[in-house]
Amino acid sequence: MNNDTAAPRCCALVAIVGRPNVGKSTLLNALVGQKVSITSRKAQTTRHRITGIRTEGAAQFVFVDTPGFQTRHTVKGAAALNRSLNKTVQAVLSDVDLVLFVVEAGRFGLDDAKVLALVPPGKPTVLIANKLDQVTRRAELAPWLQSMQQRHPFTEFVPLSAERAGDAERLLAILEPHLPEQPWFHDEDSLTDRSERFLAAEIVREKLFRLTGDELPYTSTVVIDQFKEEGALRRIAATIVVERDAHKGMVIGHKGERLRRIGTDARVELERLLDAKVFLELWVKVRSGWADDEARLKSYGYE
Ligand code: GDP
Repeated sequence: MNNDTAAPRCCALVAIVGRPNVGKSTLLNALVGQKVSITSRKAQTTRHRITGIRTEGAAQFVFVDTPGFQTRHTVKGAAALNRSLNKTVQAVLSDVDLVLFVVEAGRFGLDDAKVLALVPPGKPTVLIANKLDQVTRRAELAPWLQSMQQRHPFTEFVPLSAERAGDAERLLAILEPHLPEQPWFHDEDSLTDRSERFLAAEIVREKLFRLTGDELPYTSTVVIDQFKEEGALRRIAATIVVERDAHKGMVIGHKGERLRRIGTDARVELERLLDAKVFLELWVKVRSGWADDEARLKSYGYE
């Protein structure tokens, strides 16, 4: 390529925000083109800050996936966790160049409003009206979009389905003109700046929530006790920390079957993601009241 005519490089830190379950993780995965964040039918599985990177032509998008906003401060015993999450989110938002505010197309509830209220004034914000496929009456979308226009000075309005191939690419093209001209933050082929250790915790957590359905409270977490690289082998030991004895039983299952399944599924996926052989050891521990203990939260790596 002739450098004289090449478009100047542009790059942006982009935050994807919205209440739980609107499809933020699904959107991130579609935008980055590889699984880096964790999706689940259950809200609140993504509690860490994850970045996915997409470089397209002269533009580099550095996505910062924020935790599910905690709008229900009354969740019993999880006050410290909620405070920690909101603080993380606000810190992220003040840092970024562009905010993608995700809602379900045609809906705007109190939970959505509380999230939108945390976006700093003047921050370029694009409204993503996701799950367009679930809107049966398309005619009602235009007046809804107009009402959204009155609520907030959005930069763009993009109805889409994060689960539909092609929609993420269309979104990237719409976002590109809003990227500031500046050097790229990362190498062209970076996908995520999260460590393998972090991915391991995320994958175990995903399997945990998928296989326990709605039984397990989101205050359960996964701690990596050991992560050793031995040539083409990763030796990983992780503890699933739950709040109650009853939850421990749910995770372990009848004769340990569920825990074994969590371990097998996580191992298979990790071997694919890390392109290495994985030896995974899983433990379950009851740590009563951990979600309401600031000091302990810190030691588990929450910001
Ligand atoms: P998050 O909590 O905002 O990160 O939401 P997730 O990405 O985990 O998605 C929540 C649920 O919505 C999952 O069951 C997804 O499969 C579903 N979902 C995400 N995007 C779409 C979409 O475009 N259409 C439909 N019908 N469902 C979607």
